[in-house]
Amino acid sequence: MLRIIIDMLFPSRCAACGRPVGSIQHNICSACADKIVIIQDGCPVCAGPMAEGRCKICPERAFYPSKNMAIAEYGGVMKELLHKLKFSGMRRLHVPIGRMVLNELARHAVPADIITCVPMNTRKKRKRGFNQSELIAKLVAKKSGIPYLPLMKEKRKSETQRELGLRHRFINVINRYSLKKGRLIREKTILIIDDVFTTGATINECARVLLAAGAREVFSVTVARSNITTEGSKFGKNESGEQYNY
Ligand SMILES: [Zn+2]
Ligand SMILES: [Zn+2]
Repeated sequence: MLRIIIDMLFPSRCAACGRPVGSIQHNICSACADKIVIIQDGCPVCAGPMAEGRCKICPERAFYPSKNMAIAEYGGVMKELLHKLKFSGMRRLHVPIGRMVLNELARHAVPADIITCVPMNTRKKRKRGFNQSELIAKLVAKKSGIPYLPLMKEKRKSETQRELGLRHRFINVINRYSLKKGRLIREKTILIIDDVFTTGATINECARVLLAAGAREVFSVTVARSNITTEGSKFGKNESGEQYNY
């Protein structure tokens, strides 16, 4: 009854197609929810794309998390949802996304003493109003009963990764994150939550920092997996303006 009244007073719409939806559906209609492409063929270690039975990224780098999980392909409805959450301020979308993360964690039965997220520096966070990964991580923590703790901070000056090629993404994140003062994580198993996995460079660097600070093991879960194409992608530049070519 209360739901019916709430729906009449505050009608909500599907974030992807705009059709009216009941409040119980959390801004995604069932037709759009069905269109989300769930990853079936990811690398068992990093969830990255596979080619001929081998991960395209793992042979290229050391991967610090024991396992990364990724739920859906970054495209179509999923891209729309994450865009609306991040850039249109539709905070409520962290609820259906957080539920997908909870389902994924239940499927893999990953252990964790602490849940944390990839941090966002204060300037970026003030501009956006929130850190989407933090919203999702807090919801997952609340529903799973595992404590949420902000463990890391991001340096103030850090370039966005969006326009960068594969190799530069790794170089760009080295020493970008550090452990917050006074965090005691020795022998703890930590689960990092983030929104998009492209090469895993961000998650990897966070896991490296946590393990260096004494964490026993790090797992991670990312909502969506985006494919980076090495051919024809935009190349990055380092501080001296030199182009990376690979
Ligand atoms: Zn829809
Ligand atoms: Zn892999």
